[in-house]
Amino acid sequence: VGPERPDDADATTTIAGIHISSADREVFPDSGCTKSDVARHYERVGDRLVEIAGDRPLSLLRAPKGIDGDTFFQKHAGKGFPDAIKEIEIEESDGETASYMYATQPEAFVAAAQMGTLEFHMWGSRIDRLERPDRLVFDLDPDEGLGWEDVRSAAIDLRDRLEELGLASGVMVTGGKGVHVWLPLRRDHGWEPVKTFAKTVAHVLAEAEPKRFTATMSKQKRKGRIFVDWLRNERGATAVVPYSVRARPGAPVAVPVTWDELGTLDGPDGFDMGAVRERLTDPCPYLDAASDLQRLTSDVVDKLEAW
Ligand code: ATP
Ligand code: MN
Ligand code: MN
Repeated sequence: VGPERPDDADATTTIAGIHISSADREVFPDSGCTKSDVARHYERVGDRLVEIAGDRPLSLLRAPKGIDGDTFFQKHAGKGFPDAIKEIEIEESDGETASYMYATQPEAFVAAAQMGTLEFHMWGSRIDRLERPDRLVFDLDPDEGLGWEDVRSAAIDLRDRLEELGLASGVMVTGGKGVHVWLPLRRDHGWEPVKTFAKTVAHVLAEAEPKRFTATMSKQKRKGRIFVDWLRNERGATAVVPYSVRARPGAPVAVPVTWDELGTLDGPDGFDMGAVRERLTDPCPYLDAASDLQRLTSDVVDKLEAW
């Protein structure tokens, strides 16, 4: 932060037609990134976000005072939300309906940033067919003490396993500690078979190499291992949206990469908003992979069970 930056958190500015209040508030005090920096990032990636996350129920991680203040994870739409953020009633597991949020325009992400949103998380299905997931994600969560090499080789081994099943996957560094390996799915199945498939793959990995992998959430069992978190594939579960900023020191961004590029990275949190800006002239690895819809056929399931 240079001395010339006005010490005026009340400054306002307009980004993508959205009025941004407290534009100069440093929401990432460690790196000096402001609320308007975040809003501008979402303006820049807005078109991609609409393609990737548009029409999916979204949860927001909000941090109105920045990452050092209170943060909360918001699943349901609230009163006084801007019109740019659309609402849809969804039946929850208790049979009651609740109002969820989704976006159809780039401005929606900027409007959410105006409300103090730092992170976006999305469902694995879209609002036109909520009961048919079109995306499956393995969230690789390393225990503390494991290094980037361990995470990367785990992702590559998972990719190879999926390839043996005839399935092509994509990869994203989360901006946190791990990576997400994901598959674009044809909408052939409901949540249960998709979740069962993910669970089985995770357990196969853990049984084959119990020293490296665990398929159970318990921190105890994770000791020195990578948790292959398959629970992102339940109805109502979310995973962080590609190109979302993360509410962590340094303001890292979740970034989809190609498998080749994964091998060149030094860690899962190496991209900041500036680095993402430079990547936007290149094709998006997520969108490139997203149209190659994979099918969980009975053949795939038979092969999986034979492992
Ligand atoms: P990392 O690489 O550091 O693990 P991540 O995005 O995978 O980053 P996780 O802690 O593994 O973070 O969380 C997985 C997913 O669980 C998140 O992407 C998010 O969608 C969901 N999640 C996180 N926090 C909450 C919360 N408070 N309530 C509900 N779901 C959450
Ligand atoms: Mn994770
Ligand atoms: Mn997880």
